[in-house]
Amino acid sequence: MKRYLKELIIGVGIATITFVAFNFQQFTVPFLLLFGILLTFAFVIDRNRSATAALSHEVAKSHRIEFDEIGGQDMAKRELTEALDFLRHREKIKQLGINPLKGIILTGPPGTGKTLLAKAAATYTDSVFVSASGSEFVEMYVGVGASRVRQMFQKARAQAKKEGKDSAIIFIDEIDVIGGKRGGNQSHQEYDQTLNQLLTEMDGMQTTSSPLVLVIAATNRLDMLDPALIRPGRFDRQIKVDLPDKNGRLHILQIQTKKRPLADSVDLEKVAAEAYGFSGAQLESLCNEAAIMAMRENKEQIEQLHFRDSVDKVLLGERTGKRPRQEELERVAVHELGHAIVSESVRKRSVSHITIAPRGNALGFVRQVPESDGYLYTYDQLVDQIKIALGGTVAEELIYGNRSTGAQGDIQQATNMARTIVACGLSSLGIVDIDNLQRNVLDEEIRRIFADLYDATSELLSVYKDGIATLSVNLVRDENMSGDQFRAWMAVNEKQPLAV
Ligand code: ADP
Ligand code: MG
Ligand code: ZN
Repeated sequence: MKRYLKELIIGVGIATITFVAFNFQQFTVPFLLLFGILLTFAFVIDRNRSATAALSHEVAKSHRIEFDEIGGQDMAKRELTEALDFLRHREKIKQLGINPLKGIILTGPPGTGKTLLAKAAATYTDSVFVSASGSEFVEMYVGVGASRVRQMFQKARAQAKKEGKDSAIIFIDEIDVIGGKRGGNQSHQEYDQTLNQLLTEMDGMQTTSSPLVLVIAATNRLDMLDPALIRPGRFDRQIKVDLPDKNGRLHILQIQTKKRPLADSVDLEKVAAEAYGFSGAQLESLCNEAAIMAMRENKEQIEQLHFRDSVDKVLLGERTGKRPRQEELERVAVHELGHAIVSESVRKRSVSHITIAPRGNALGFVRQVPESDGYLYTYDQLVDQIKIALGGTVAEELIYGNRSTGAQGDIQQATNMARTIVACGLSSLGIVDIDNLQRNVLDEEIRRIFADLYDATSELLSVYKDGIATLSVNLVRDENMSGDQFRAWMAVNEKQPLAV
């Protein structure tokens, strides 16, 4: 109806212009005025419409999510169900005089399952689920955000009544967009009003009335939130939803492959190890890519190789349309072989595969088999990682007598690790406070670490000089080399080190 009206107004506007253009000049001013009034009217209608439009499709009618469908996150699930039991055993809570919970904040990196957890919470408590993202509240018109907040709470209650449920869960994703510190440099009046409205709604929530409303919010920037939000009686439960560890990844992979045909040879544990640092969303995308790859090859089942190749794709993005020149490809091959040789030398069987197919920002890439999920590094491990990072540029120097900008990312990584060495008291400076260290002392120490390790890496690679030159030709030709192919070559070269 409203849409109809707007179109009508625009139609009249156009007709008016046409009329004016073809008719007497003395009518121009009044007609333009009239047209202006009509336009303003259309604008107001549009504004009112946008206040309601964003909320029209929020009630999730989609498939119900159960906690069993969420992999890893055992801690988060336990904490969340504990909190939700307040909703489920409301009578008991009332009897003991416990204040029921109003808000829960889920914090953690993107794609770890925060939305899933909120949906599962609704299933678990048999609640209505209404959701919105923080960015949806923010409009150019002041006051719209606040009215959307109000509407969302109304809608949650109305929907619960309609479905005969006595609780509703409101999920606000990206709460930091509206919940940032009030009066901060970035925030302005509109954000403040929206946040104030949310706080008012939460304070006014009757914890005894029916339907009971619980607000679950998600963010990956807890530090950004206005302290008023996390005061008792508002979001007073915070649950961490972190990246899954290896077991968590395995669990997520098992869930994600349940409906996908896997070859018997697939070892999901191995896939979980290779997908080091992946979030749940990345693991899902990994399974999907593997299935696509199997389809392209006309296979009925997904094989281990498909998973392996998909890891790169998820990690680095689609293969880009970049077409490096022939001499660039050769240099990239030399560079990557440098990384690979050092990697294999400091840790046997550590190279998973080598590629010079450009993906994302990278022109080439050596994928390492992660050691294991660890939280601590020894001095030797840090030193080895720096040598591996320097391996690329050292190999270029060895073959071409010069280096290139291809090492920029490597140098950054190496510098970070060198800083870590100093910060953890593992350098020749002994135990120091890196923040209070004089700039030139720190620089000098990092330079010293690099100088030593550069020399050590050069020495390590020098025996492979001719080998790199020949093997890089194969790598340019094939674009990819598996860890096993590479190791076969290493074995031969180790036995008969080539004289330089
Ligand atoms: P977040 O809200 O933390 O950004 P989502 O819950 O939106 O993450 O997850 C996005 C998608 O990634 C989900 O739809 C699901 O397919 C997958 N996913 C993420 N985490 C998990 C998990 N722990 N278990 C299973 N699938 C997951
Ligand atoms: Mg999400
Ligand atoms: Zn490199």
